Amino acid sequence: MAEEAQTERPGRSGEAYHAESAEAVVDHLESSTDRGLTNEEAQRRRERHGPNELPEDKRAGLVGIFLRQFTDPLIYILLIAAGVSLAIGSFASAAFITAVLLLNAIVGCFQEYQSESSAQALQSVVRMCPRVLRDGQRDKVDATELVPGDIVLLETGDTVPADLRLIDSTNVQADESLITGESTPVDKDAGAELEEDTPLAERQTLLHSGSAVMAGRATGIVIRTGKTTEIGQIAASLAKNESGTPPLVQKLKRLTHLIALFTLAAVAGVALIQFLNGKSFVDIFTLAVALSVAAIPAGLPVAITVALSVASSRMAERNVIVRRLAAVEGLGSCTLIASDKTGTLTANKLTVQRVWLGPNRQAEIGGEARSLEGEVTAGGETPEDETCEALRTFATGGALASEGELTIAQGEIQKAEGDTTDLAFLVLAAKLGIDQQTLADEYPEEDRIPFEASKFFSATFNTSQDRLVAHAKGAPETIIDMCSLDDETRQTIEKQQKDWANEGFRVLAVAGGEVDAANEESLRNLSFLGLVALIDPIRDEVPEAIERCYGAGVGVRMITGDHPDTAYAIGSSLKLADERDQVITGKALSEANDEADVRIGRARVFARVEPLQKTEIVESLQRDGHYVAVTGDGVNDAPALDRANIGIAMGASGTDVARSAGDLILTDDNFASVVPGIEWGRTAYDNVRKVVWLLLSTGTAEVLLFFLALGFGLPIPLTAVQLLWLNMVTNGIQDVALGFEKAEPGVLDRPPRSPDEPIFNRRMVENVLVSGIYIGVVAFGVYYYLYSVMGMDEAQARNLTLLLMVLFENIHLLSCRSERRSLFKVPLRSNPLLLLSIIGAHGIHVAAMYIPGLKDVLGVSPVSWQTWAVLLGIAVTLLFVDESAKWLRSRKVSSGKASSG
Ligand code: ADP
Ligand code: MG
Repeated sequence: MAEEAQTERPGRSGEAYHAESAEAVVDHLESSTDRGLTNEEAQRRRERHGPNELPEDKRAGLVGIFLRQFTDPLIYILLIAAGVSLAIGSFASAAFITAVLLLNAIVGCFQEYQSESSAQALQSVVRMCPRVLRDGQRDKVDATELVPGDIVLLETGDTVPADLRLIDSTNVQADESLITGESTPVDKDAGAELEEDTPLAERQTLLHSGSAVMAGRATGIVIRTGKTTEIGQIAASLAKNESGTPPLVQKLKRLTHLIALFTLAAVAGVALIQFLNGKSFVDIFTLAVALSVAAIPAGLPVAITVALSVASSRMAERNVIVRRLAAVEGLGSCTLIASDKTGTLTANKLTVQRVWLGPNRQAEIGGEARSLEGEVTAGGETPEDETCEALRTFATGGALASEGELTIAQGEIQKAEGDTTDLAFLVLAAKLGIDQQTLADEYPEEDRIPFEASKFFSATFNTSQDRLVAHAKGAPETIIDMCSLDDETRQTIEKQQKDWANEGFRVLAVAGGEVDAANEESLRNLSFLGLVALIDPIRDEVPEAIERCYGAGVGVRMITGDHPDTAYAIGSSLKLADERDQVITGKALSEANDEADVRIGRARVFARVEPLQKTEIVESLQRDGHYVAVTGDGVNDAPALDRANIGIAMGASGTDVARSAGDLILTDDNFASVVPGIEWGRTAYDNVRKVVWLLLSTGTAEVLLFFLALGFGLPIPLTAVQLLWLNMVTNGIQDVALGFEKAEPGVLDRPPRSPDEPIFNRRMVENVLVSGIYIGVVAFGVYYYLYSVMGMDEAQARNLTLLLMVLFENIHLLSCRSERRSLFKVPLRSNPLLLLSIIGAHGIHVAAMYIPGLKDVLGVSPVSWQTWAVLLGIAVTLLFVDESAKWLRSRKVSSGKASSG
């Protein structure tokens, strides 16, 4: 029982942990600062406290999702129409309207279900995996596994996974806006002494779940998990899942509503004519409803959303996770990608290859990034003792100034965790037989200045033989300034760094020496220990990916914190830059003032850029008319990711903060993954246009058929029920099927469309009018011939006209599969759903001719196969029209190209 009572205590909210000392909290929670909890204990507590997660937003059940499909003004009109139809005894109309509505709702549900599954893919990418100390081992653990008493290690860019009492902190700043609403980051300090009644926003010794570490390093003990955390108390949702309707869908919704207005006006006109002709209210009303259903593309928004979600699932298969559906079409019109270098264009496998230890003292290091093999040589021979000595001093300094952890067993690296530049230094030390643990024991750490992308170095302060020593590593120009060097040595070092940078190496310097105090200001008069040349191979797929971007009219810029010479060497080997003056540095940029825009416009490679300058670069490029995609991983990249038209965050190496600012996430951090993203973005947009073409042209045709018939004084060519049926069998599934069309060949060979080009541009108007008018006029001609010339009775004439329309529209669907290519060049098997929808629709229509009951309601009857063949022959002539239009246009385009090029 006693034990029970004790283990009950951890995790209960309301404890004044912030006012207790860290040691007291660790004791209280029966944990250990050096070893953390044991795995068994963690398991026990997990059973007691449950998973560390917030209750999910109540997800609408299937019924809820289904009902939600009915919340749209258009749907209300149809619902009212169904109600009135029922009231006036027009049961067939009521039934059909209901069927149309149901079909629409089912498609809508299906679409939401699809986006649900991509939301899950997203969840798995943004899942937090903090580093936790358990059984004396540091391990990444899923955030939901955390329990009170766990020791968690955090660094810049991490999201805080639970409420923590800080045990140790170095310059920690946290963004607590989610909890306190305060948007500027606040300082945190493990050692602060607080009163019990300190308000939440001032509890410096705590880190709250859901806030973000904006700077520094922290170790803390979990005090509360799940819904007992502060954020759990205020019931805010951690996963800020971006949904919202994409702008394209909004635009098309507005278009649909506009069409609806026009249609209603036109329908009112028709109704008036009918009324003057003495038709009954019931007839007029049913006709009005049918015409509205024919003309209003009610399924448009849903079909468009499907097209976008299909693309987003396809992208997910290619390592691109979509956080904002709008980014799908956005990527298609992207004109410029500003990419990081390290890790995105390169493999992020930094390896030390050469060390410069002084004039005529160099060493070459063999081997790979993650292996301890590799010989140390000097000019191809075994190095002299003095060189070995200097190399050890250099490697020791470099390793001390690095964070991260290598786990070595049986002479092999089992695990490597941390920044890749740091790891390269640790591997170098390990190759020389310097053990990280021994080093830590020999040099107890006093303080450290961790590397942040906005600083170009890192440093550490340790005690060694009762003296305070500092070691710093980083950009040579920064490190040189910390050393006392004569001009000659300085120039020799600079020359060496330049030579290596020109070869594409990332060059870092290391310095060390005794200091007075453990702070940045005292990093002066250090001894220069040497330079190191690190190689980071370019990712294999990247050169081709850049080639393809160029082919697609998308520019690529590189933004890096690295030295301009290194950046140029890599940039030119990637064909990003071909002249040295296309490289601009962050410093030059900040001094350019008025000329900044011009210089940014000219630059291809941005070097020694601080993350915050990225935003400036993005804005300038946007002013230049570019639609910019930017990649980013660090905490300071978030503003640029936000600002860019498309923010691309790195999934593997990116910080939580960057990932929650991105519109897209690359799960493999690979630049090359952007290319299929662009391909699918463009395809999605193409498919949206196909849907619009299909729906608007068939609507136009139906309305035209009616107006012509009425204008020529003939009885209505299709009954209301027939019109409703026609729409169901020719548009119901077909529009959605178009969203599944594969990418057209050559999507990546054409320039990006202008982002503000409307869907309803000139080409679309032509598309819709050409096919809509042809179908409408020919169908009317046939109806006229049957009724007026052949003297067929109304019912039979309608039966045949309806069949003709079904044939027409399904054939037209084949044309709509591409605005550019001949339909014979679009293989049918590439879209099984479409093929199925055509066969199914036609089969259902023919079957209906034989089904007693249904056939009477629809006013259809079986036709001979000869008649069917004749009608099919007439419908097929549409292909001639659609194909000619495509052919004429392709000629115009290519002759336009020839004259302009
Ligand atoms: P990139 O844009 O290539 O990712 P970074 O911002 O990571 O560039 O690095 C910029 C510069 O900062 C490097 O050229 C190097 O001089 C220095 N630097 C990078 N990583 C570290 C590190 N872990 N420790 C010390 N200095 C570093
Ligand atoms: Mg970096």
